[in-house]
Amino acid sequence: MAIRDFPLWKQCLKSLASHVDELYLRFDMRTGDKNILPEIESCCDGKLKKLIKSDIVWDNHNWKEELLRILDSVHPRVVLFPDEDEEFDSGIEKDIKNFMDSDCKEMIFDFKTILPKGITKAPSEDGRVYPFTKHVKVFKWRPGLTYIPYKNRGRLFTYLDNPQYEAKSKITHYHFYTMELYNKWKDRLRNRFKLEENKRLCNGRKTIVYILGSTRSGSTMLDLMISSNSECTSLGELCLLHKRDCGFCGAKCKYWKEYKKKFNGNYYETAFKVFKKDILVDSSKKWKWLKERADSESYEYKVIHLVRNGLDRLKFRKGKNGHIKPYVVQAWVNTHRKCEKVRKRYGGILVKYEEINQETNRIYEYLGVKWQDRKVKFWEHEHHGLLGSKTAYSLVKKWHNKENGWYNIYADEHGFNLNPRTGHEFLSKEDIKVFNKYGGRELNKELGYE
Ligand SMILES: [Zn+2]
Repeated sequence: MAIRDFPLWKQCLKSLASHVDELYLRFDMRTGDKNILPEIESCCDGKLKKLIKSDIVWDNHNWKEELLRILDSVHPRVVLFPDEDEEFDSGIEKDIKNFMDSDCKEMIFDFKTILPKGITKAPSEDGRVYPFTKHVKVFKWRPGLTYIPYKNRGRLFTYLDNPQYEAKSKITHYHFYTMELYNKWKDRLRNRFKLEENKRLCNGRKTIVYILGSTRSGSTMLDLMISSNSECTSLGELCLLHKRDCGFCGAKCKYWKEYKKKFNGNYYETAFKVFKKDILVDSSKKWKWLKERADSESYEYKVIHLVRNGLDRLKFRKGKNGHIKPYVVQAWVNTHRKCEKVRKRYGGILVKYEEINQETNRIYEYLGVKWQDRKVKFWEHEHHGLLGSKTAYSLVKKWHNKENGWYNIYADEHGFNLNPRTGHEFLSKEDIKVFNKYGGRELNKELGYE
């Protein structure tokens, strides 16, 4: 047994002494309460053979190995190895007898947890109650045993391939018998669970590339361009899952059919399962959607804030009477401000629509993906994102259907379908006045458009 400072260490040590012939103990000199040192021997019922006063830094297994090494010269038949906050119950003698008659090398135990008054359940995380599984507390000794490399649950590495004997008796476990200990354990478990979850989710550096910005900024184009890299896949506007179909195959898309079947409420988790790529591109654009996802699904997030000349995108936003309404300009400015905040929060980059062609290098560098084409011909790749811009997808479809058309020729010449005509020519003097008055001009200037 290893002793440090657990309030009931005396009770647990005395209990262990009642079940064994000899005691080998370790005291932790670095973190243990040294005041209890003189009392240890009096709790051993004359059975103490050795007490190591160790100053080795504690980790998951080294203290176990340190105690095990003492036994190299002792040659016991069977070893009982509880913690300083655990007690065997009276059924242990019978269990040991049956275990010794079996071919098993290790005996595993379930726990009976003692809870503080008024508490009915041991701390739990993710629906699992602690201790999560049975642990090895008794094993048969033989020369050359080791815990290294340590595999958890008190298992000896030497015995990993051997069947285990399941004890009928239980270990009484006092880890959190007071309210103070209970709360401490709760926090510890929560942190441990979070770490485990992050590790599980980030396994293989699973990344979400999020395209952030206003509508009509060319996000589908950028999405398809990035997704043409073999490490990435486009999800399109994932926030419109129930409203849109695949931009390439429509409602019959096998990927989105599978996605909807497997959808468990976690958008990205489901997408990783279905698309089987480590980098997913979501061009939902909405800053709120990104925040909600990033707070609930832990992956690496790479944020690209896409902007476009405010005057150019206005041509898509003319009202029924053919004029630009103030709120259209205001919404653009406000959305930009919100996006800017969110981009900074996630350490994202700002990219101008007009410069996408020249920016490919910087974007790939930021995403950490391998550079594959000097000029990305996104229309030559198959994409299954949820439809954003029809223009971008029509280019993909035309190329795949071997249709000759304006798009194809234009795309070959310029790399991307960056609409050659600017929006300015569609705007009246009145429209430009509204744009200037409601903050459009100021933002355009800030973005370097004037
Ligand atoms: Zn599809």
